[in-house]
Amino acid sequence: PADRIDAVVSLAKRRGFVFPSSEIYGGTRSAWDYGPLGVALKDNVRQQWWKTMVQQRDDIVGLDSAVILARDVWTASGHIDAFVDPLTECQSCHKRFRADHLEEAWEAKHGAPPASLSELNCPNCGNKGTFTEPKMFNGLMKTYLGPTESADGLHYLRPETAQGIFVNYNNVATAARKKPPFGIAQVGKSFRNEITPGNFIFRTREFEQMEMEFFVAPGSDEEWHEYWLQQRWNWYLDLGLSEENLRFFEHPEEKLSHYSKRTVDIEYRFQFGGTEFAELEGIANRTDFDLKTHSKHSGVDLSFFDQEKQERWVPYVIEPAAGLTRAVLAFLLEAYDEDEAPNTKGGVDKRTVMRFDPRLAPVKVAVLPLSRNPELSPKARGLAETLRKRWMVEFDDSQAIGRRYRRQDEIGTPFCITVDFDTLTDDAVTVRDRDTMKQERVALDQIEDYLIKRLPG
Ligand code: ATP
Repeated sequence: PADRIDAVVSLAKRRGFVFPSSEIYGGTRSAWDYGPLGVALKDNVRQQWWKTMVQQRDDIVGLDSAVILARDVWTASGHIDAFVDPLTECQSCHKRFRADHLEEAWEAKHGAPPASLSELNCPNCGNKGTFTEPKMFNGLMKTYLGPTESADGLHYLRPETAQGIFVNYNNVATAARKKPPFGIAQVGKSFRNEITPGNFIFRTREFEQMEMEFFVAPGSDEEWHEYWLQQRWNWYLDLGLSEENLRFFEHPEEKLSHYSKRTVDIEYRFQFGGTEFAELEGIANRTDFDLKTHSKHSGVDLSFFDQEKQERWVPYVIEPAAGLTRAVLAFLLEAYDEDEAPNTKGGVDKRTVMRFDPRLAPVKVAVLPLSRNPELSPKARGLAETLRKRWMVEFDDSQAIGRRYRRQDEIGTPFCITVDFDTLTDDAVTVRDRDTMKQERVALDQIEDYLIKRLPG
């Protein structure tokens, strides 16, 4: 429901996942800031991606290239000419929109594209037929390097991490002694001068991407494309997105980007007003476009000599391109749940619980002394210190235990450990499970093993 996103935005702010950027100055819609829990959640998503894509594979290696690359990179990649969107302005309220986004929304509703923009109502003021002819607008974010704002100093912040990978193709292949099929993975910030940033962290002008370029022999590209579609789909499922909230979207041929032979998106049911599903990750067959164009513009040969076949070819590229910050939004929405928990009066209270996969939960364990007490508190603090060596741990001894459980449920902490007066004699603690709310008595010398079994890395 639409109020789910409102509930998540409000929880995100209140509990320190995501804050409006520069809020004390009124905020910007361009960017958001990640608070203490948000930075941990984002980091966990990134780590899971890196683990699956790099650590656990022999055929993919990592890279961290610069945000500002040589300007020639963007001429060669086509971004200076082709990274443009049709911009239109409502003449009544002077709000600007991307014409293609307006048309897509109409098509999703009516089953066919509008004959012209004059059929559309402005999403802001509601007036019809007020749009100007679309003008093409380049989405590259400009900056100037060096002391003068001269034409020579003009550079661009990268709109995708991919080009940093292509221009390092030879460096990486040689240094890591890899040959196709193999991949290069990179996570980092990208910048796009989006006309209409919005829907919380879904579309921002500054965001983070997780991209992997997989280089294969021409002819094997279609098979590898299918393979990566499945792999990426499984990754989201494994980390807790439910199947009914995911779908594939095949880009129609006439709308493919200039470099693409086929692109399939993984879409998530974000449920923003008006649109059910929206892109979470794009998986493209970029053909040999990128390596060829960089070979041509740089004069450096990026082809590969195939010893077995005794022939030279330019690798094809399969690219799963995911948004890290957009994935964080999907995981936040999916985790949000409301149910009931027993209260001390024998009744039930409503509780909000973030059902994060334990691998993504920002805090893994909360240590809660039953009450503030000169004997319980040091014991509990000692336990928290021990567990911190391995996990993100919160220590909380303020207010009633029920309220402290609620606070941990609301941020998705998988386990709460209560240190009570029995602990002082039996050297055991009570472990409460976030989802079942079941409690178990566990001996202190067993607690680390207990958690290790239930908190996979
Ligand atoms: P859209 O059609 O939504 O503008 P795109 O097709 O241009 O997106 P890609 O170029 O395929 O996006 O980028 C790969 C991924 O990067 C997207 O699937 C998305 O997760 C993320 N991404 C792209 N632009 C943004 C943005 N402005 N804010 C947040 N994430 C983004």
